Amino acid sequence: MRKALTMFGAIAALAIGFLSTPPAAHAAFPAYGNPIDHPGPNGNVRCQAYENAAQTYPGDRIPNTTNKTHYFYCGSVKGWNMAHNEVTQLSSYTRNLLKAKLGVNAPTGVTYYVFKNYDEAKAWILAEKGFNIPIEARNSTRGFSFDDENFSIIYEKWYPTDTATTPIDLSDSDFRGTINHESGHQLDYRYDLQLSTGQFFKTLVNQDKAVYNAKAFCFIWASKCSGGLPVSPYDNATLYPVATRNYKVLTETYPADYFNPVTARQWREYWAEQYADTENPGTDTGIDSHFAQLLCSRRWAGWVRDHGVTTPPTTGWATGCSKPSDPIPTLPPQ
Ligand SMILES: [Zn+2]
Repeated sequence: MRKALTMFGAIAALAIGFLSTPPAAHAAFPAYGNPIDHPGPNGNVRCQAYENAAQTYPGDRIPNTTNKTHYFYCGSVKGWNMAHNEVTQLSSYTRNLLKAKLGVNAPTGVTYYVFKNYDEAKAWILAEKGFNIPIEARNSTRGFSFDDENFSIIYEKWYPTDTATTPIDLSDSDFRGTINHESGHQLDYRYDLQLSTGQFFKTLVNQDKAVYNAKAFCFIWASKCSGGLPVSPYDNATLYPVATRNYKVLTETYPADYFNPVTARQWREYWAEQYADTENPGTDTGIDSHFAQLLCSRRWAGWVRDHGVTTPPTTGWATGCSKPSDPIPTLPPQ
């Protein structure tokens, strides 16, 4: 831990250097305008907009604003170019939709903010936007997007449990995955959540479950098997009926938000993470190894990534999956 803190300090000093005087080597992607400071829990929180020479999203200036692009770096660990580069690597379809000016909820397109942690994000966003980030965006959360706001937040350090008091670094892969995940949420929000709550997606989730449950238990859950057979209690057909066992274990292993949602947030995490993993990487290699087996929604998420929310394909579906007959979501009127 001490070693990590020392490293953190060294990188922080380097990043602050970049913020005040961007080195010439990065001239193609310089800071834009003046940094925006607001008081935080440990002194000022400084956010700096960055642009790139080509003015491509998210490093493009927002018209009729000063000092603002679609990408703000307010962190100190990952470096100001990491998140920008990840957004740039999203499919062109996704970037085009996220930068579009859609109605009152996204009048300027989606902006990405990288903060050191929840506490700094909460202070800065409240001061800058008057928006109070809820506690749900702190606990066990690596990033956050808001239905009625046109921005996503990614943390460099996160609180891995509800009761954790010291935030810990995200790995580089988890950091990049979080950007992809939040972008999946933003796509869903552009469609008024119909990508995750519409009947088209529900049909795919039901197909997913059937395909997933039909696979050999020890193929899906090798760690819960010995000698090619399920260990106790997974061998108990009363507790774990074979026909539904694989998915039941999935719901017991990972947070309910992902695989067994019970609130109005129905299936939005399932959509966002399946989408994120097709953009590669997702946020969590353990969870993503299962999304890679949820083949029906995966076909659709990959199609959306490559082609947009357009007429779904009739071919290329895995065994047990097929194009739902339900209508696909359409963009709400602007
Ligand atoms: Zn999410």
